Amino acid sequence: MIQSPLLDPIAGYIAGQWVDADSAARVDVTNPATGEVLASVPAMGAEETGRAIAAAQAALATIPDIETRRQWLQQANDALLANKKEIGRILCMEHGKPWPEAQGEVEYAASFFDYYARTMVDILAPEHLPGEFKGCTWSVHKRPIGVVGLITPWNFPIAMIAKKLAPALAAGCPSVIKPAKDTPLTMVALFRILHDHLQLPAGMVNLVMGNAGKIGGALMGSPTVRMVSFTGSTEVGQLLLEQSRADVKKLGLELGGNAPFIVCDDADIDGAIDGLMANKFRGAGQTCVCANRVYVHTAVYDEFAQKLFERVNALKVGNGMDEGVDIGPLINAAGFEKVREHVADALARGAHLKAGPRPDELDAARSLLYPPSVLTEVTHDMRCCQEETFGPLVPLIRFDDDAKVIEQANDTSFGLAAYLYTQDEQRAAWFMERLHFGHCGYNTGMGPAAHTPFGGMLTSGLGREGGHEGLLEYVELQTIPQGISRAS
Ligand code: ADP
Repeated sequence: MIQSPLLDPIAGYIAGQWVDADSAARVDVTNPATGEVLASVPAMGAEETGRAIAAAQAALATIPDIETRRQWLQQANDALLANKKEIGRILCMEHGKPWPEAQGEVEYAASFFDYYARTMVDILAPEHLPGEFKGCTWSVHKRPIGVVGLITPWNFPIAMIAKKLAPALAAGCPSVIKPAKDTPLTMVALFRILHDHLQLPAGMVNLVMGNAGKIGGALMGSPTVRMVSFTGSTEVGQLLLEQSRADVKKLGLELGGNAPFIVCDDADIDGAIDGLMANKFRGAGQTCVCANRVYVHTAVYDEFAQKLFERVNALKVGNGMDEGVDIGPLINAAGFEKVREHVADALARGAHLKAGPRPDELDAARSLLYPPSVLTEVTHDMRCCQEETFGPLVPLIRFDDDAKVIEQANDTSFGLAAYLYTQDEQRAAWFMERLHFGHCGYNTGMGPAAHTPFGGMLTSGLGREGGHEGLLEYVELQTIPQGISRAS
């Protein structure tokens, strides 16, 4: 069991009150590294969600001025940083990622509150257009979109909510928040912090957890909820799109990826390996921006592969709470099985396993630790190139022609992230113009940051998070033409 002052109580939160499920039912949360039950959380559903929506609607009448909201963000940033160690500890235990990554995630989450605290007054300022047009002066105002539903995944239990909640609070949107079933404790801890440090009006933030379909259905079925921001699978994103139809609800969707990572023959090979290691193995490869398929020019393929095996073989796999661990467990048996199947499929079709265990040596029931693996002589048609593996697997594909590799990189319905290593700026510009991905790392494996917009093209999503664009998602534009009085 986990004990923490930030998990007291372990409950939902509606209209400023800690609440249990109506049925009093609870579900267990386990530590994926050990299988230990950490705690149980309320198993809520449509009824509780309906009350949370009503509380959020009531809060709409109590939204304070922009300076008060700016102070909330500042206080959230300060409180997150002050409680970094404890939030990171809870995150580490329920997600399994290494301790330094969990601590880093709390800082990253805080950076969204900090960024919007510093910029929201400018971003939300009304625009007064110069001059007259059609006998009027014109201004454009940013109004909160209304009650929002925020649905988050398990892979970044604190960062993903920060990307949504910071702009929602900045814009003045009350929210109903649903965490993923594998990682609800970090969200409870966040609510403890909001409750203790922010003095939000009752109903400004609400927490429901439990049956995803029922909670999601209640959010999507309510005409009061004007927007739902969701990060998760493309399948659920598509369902939300269908459910948004009746009320013409706005959606922010951050969905799956299938990121290509391209290493040209003129690349700085050591730099590319550093970039790939940091990008690929964060969160045990369970991130939507991590390299899913690595295309290496045939002139440097063997050198790259050799250096990569050495680095991968030195990684330490284990419980994220233990010192020196680089890679924690996968989140659950289904995630583990997917990686195993992708390796098995590639081997059956002629790829070579250069690092990592053979799939038949592994058993999710024994341990969710999946040692980092490298496959060579992978071809584009294998499952590990066609689907998002979401685990610590690097498939290396050879290429010798830029036009062909662009074709393969773009041969996916996803468009979230891509990476390119070359020392030739013109070659890079040629690639970037053609890659249909919202985030394109150039000589870096760096993921998104609070001050820039992040989001996917094609089936990877709708809208952007971060940057001023990420705040504008939560406002409606209101245009006011003002008649010019000719009376005097
Ligand atoms: P993942 O594969 O990362 O778990 P999911 O899309 O299943 O991705 O989950 C992401 C989030 O969406 C989680 O909070 C999950 O509980 C939630 N979710 C799952 N099904 C639904 C649904 N039908 N409606 C709304 N949210 C859902």
